[in-house]
Amino acid sequence: MDRQQEFVLRTIEDRDVRFVRLWFTDVTGTLKSVALAPAEVENAFQEGLGFDGSSIDGYTRIFESDMLLAPDASTFQILPWRGQDEPTSRMFCDVQTPDGASSAADPRNVLRRALDKAGDMGFTCYTHPEIEFYLLKSHHLDTSGLPVPVDQAGYFDHVPGGVAQDFRRHVVSMLEAIGISVEFSHHENGPGQNEIDLRAADALTTADNIMTFRTVVKEVAQLQGSYATFMPKPFGDHPGSGMHTHFSLFEGDSNAFYEPSAEYKLSTTGRRFIAGLLHHSVELSAITHQFVNSYKRLWGGGEAPAYVSWGHNNRSALVRVPLYKPDKAGSARVEYRGIDSAANPYLAYAALISAGLKGIEEEYELPEAAVEDISALTSHERRVLGHDPLPGTLHDALRVMEDSEFVAEVLGEQVFENFLRNKRQEWDDYRVNVSPYELQRYLGIL
Ligand code: GLU
Ligand code: MG
Ligand code: MG
Repeated sequence: MDRQQEFVLRTIEDRDVRFVRLWFTDVTGTLKSVALAPAEVENAFQEGLGFDGSSIDGYTRIFESDMLLAPDASTFQILPWRGQDEPTSRMFCDVQTPDGASSAADPRNVLRRALDKAGDMGFTCYTHPEIEFYLLKSHHLDTSGLPVPVDQAGYFDHVPGGVAQDFRRHVVSMLEAIGISVEFSHHENGPGQNEIDLRAADALTTADNIMTFRTVVKEVAQLQGSYATFMPKPFGDHPGSGMHTHFSLFEGDSNAFYEPSAEYKLSTTGRRFIAGLLHHSVELSAITHQFVNSYKRLWGGGEAPAYVSWGHNNRSALVRVPLYKPDKAGSARVEYRGIDSAANPYLAYAALISAGLKGIEEEYELPEAAVEDISALTSHERRVLGHDPLPGTLHDALRVMEDSEFVAEVLGEQVFENFLRNKRQEWDDYRVNVSPYELQRYLGIL
């Protein structure tokens, strides 16, 4: 038993914690949870907790179903929304096979592997996500069957007496209570759309924080009688929900992306990292955009990037180098604007960080920055400038991914196969569906 584990056992006793939830995620990033009696925790630290992996999406085949959860004591927190009466806590887990080895099917392990690689190259990777989502009236559809947002406000609006700011205040204080710092929160462009930006942390902590964040947002919405969704594009005529993420690499205390005398103050390492993101963005799209609905965000306007490109202060670009103050050397970073709010954060960050590292390792050349609005160019101009389109559908994205040695290596064979199987099934379910749009268009009804 190490010191962190002892601390957890002591806290459980001191605070009279009644339930300890063990958290992990399936291949799509859905949170899985099992509640443990406090008396079982010591044993779980020593031997792990057994569960049936064959019942979890993308884990094992039925004939090799026994798996173990090994709680990560450093992630122990009391869950503030469960109240003081019967304190409930949680720990994220690493998934193991019965012999105690890390499971190749665990998304958290996929990210850990990518970060170990960064570590071998001398880097620590920090990430800072801007998470967008819609707040809807719960169980409420309008006369045409569409969900109803809680307000009609827009970007940065302050709605006196509105639900949204009370909601954000509540979410932010719950996140702070659980040790997750928030940098900004505001109303976004769409009606009922909000954004909350988490402070930068190492990439594994950020991915854990995103899982906690989604739970907190959903719980608080429910407490307030509304419904929160991270669906990438709930309304065709309003912007989708992105999860733009800022990446930076540190070598010790120094930011490896910062070079005061270079163009945009961006170091060669930074340029190569961006080149890696661009080079691999199409083949990893199925991971950063994992749902049928994700492609409606990409191709539906609303400031979502649809073409491979980078820019300095260009919001149509896939990768952006934000402006930062010259005295803030440590804040040099690159923003990936492609990823949406429904992505599995472990797999998406593993893929993006590995793409950037590959750019550094292979010394990829960075093409010219885009200075104009890329979607306003003709397709000929885009071709000449090398702005390839991102995939148009989940099907297109899967076709590219299945031939990608890069993605297979990042995910490992098991997650690669499991992910493709799960997503092909989603596409097959979708393509036989006859939508209200088709009925209206071809039958003239509705
Ligand atoms: N909602 C936009 C997206 O889907 C992003 C808007 C913004 O720049 O914050 O990516
Ligand atoms: Mg935003
Ligand atoms: Mg942004």
